[in-house]
Amino acid sequence: MKLLKKKLEEEGVLFFPNTAITGFEIKRNKISALKSPAQHFEADLFVLAAGSWTAHLLKRAGICLYLQDGKGYSVTLSKPPARPQHACILVEARVAVTPMGDDLRFAGTLELSGLTPGVNRRRVQAILDSIPQYFPKFEMPETDPGHAWYGYRPCAPDGLPYIGFLRKYENLMVATGHAMMGLSLGPATGELVAQLVAGNPDERFAKFFDPNRFAGGTHRG
Ligand SMILES: Cc1cc2nc3c(=O)[nH]c(=O)nc-3n(C[C@H](O)[C@H](O)[C@H](O)COP(=O)(O)OP(=O)(O)OC[C@H]3O[C@@H](n4cnc5c(N)ncnc54)[C@H](O)[C@@H]3O)c2cc1C
Repeated sequence: MKLLKKKLEEEGVLFFPNTAITGFEIKRNKISALKSPAQHFEADLFVLAAGSWTAHLLKRAGICLYLQDGKGYSVTLSKPPARPQHACILVEARVAVTPMGDDLRFAGTLELSGLTPGVNRRRVQAILDSIPQYFPKFEMPETDPGHAWYGYRPCAPDGLPYIGFLRKYENLMVATGHAMMGLSLGPATGELVAQLVAGNPDERFAKFFDPNRFAGGTHRG
C-alpha cells in the first residue's frame, strides 16, 4: 500500500488525509463540488467510495442507496506458540485464520450493527471458541474479547457491489458494496471505474453492478 501511494503521488494524485466530506454543492443535474469544513473540492466527475458510510453521504444529495454495514471482528495474537503454515477458512464456524509474519489472526462474524461503535464480546468469544474445534492441540493464550479490532463491510441486498454512475446526477459515480471481498476486488473495481469514466465499460460485468438496480438508487432519500 505504501508503494502504491508513492506511485500515485509521483503520477500527480493528491491525498487529503483526515478530511471528512460533509456535503455536496449541486448545480442542476450535476455535482459541482464536495464540501468539507476546510475547503470545497471542485471536479468534473466524482467517485464516492466511502465504504459503509456511502449511503449516509448520498442521503445529503437526496439519493437512497440500499446499503447495510456488516460489522466484523478480528483478534491478532502476537507470536503465538504455533501457527498454521497457510491461511484457512473454518467453513462451519465462518472464521478465517491467517498467519501474518510472526502473528496469527482470527476473523469473522457479520453483525448488522448500524455503524455503532464498540465490541460485541459474545460474537468475538464465538470466534475464539471455534478455534479448538479445528485445532485441538492449539493452546489459546488468554485473550480479552473486548480488545478485538472491528471494521464495517458495506453490504448490498443482493451481495453484489455497486459500481457505476447514479442516475440522478450525470457526474456522480459510486464504487462500494463489496461486503466481504473489498480488498480482493479493489483492483478489478478500479479497472471498471476507469472503463466507465472512459465510456467503454465491459458490459459483461458492469450490468450486474449498476447502482440503480434497486428503486432506492434513483429515489429521493
Ligand atoms: C473482519 C473483517 C475481515 C475482512 N477480510 C477480508 C478479506 O480477507 N478479503 C477481502 O477482500 N475483504 C475482507 N474484508 C472486507 C473489506 O475490509 C471491505 O470489503 C473493504 O474494506 C471495503 O472497502 P471500501 O474502500 O469500499 O470501504 P472502507 O475500507 O470502509 O473505506 C471507506 C473509507 O471512506 C472513508 N470515509 C467515510 N466517510 C467519509 C467522509 N464523509 N469523508 C471522507 N472519507 C470518508 C472512511 O474513513 C474509510 O477510510 C474484511 C472485513 C472485515 C470487517
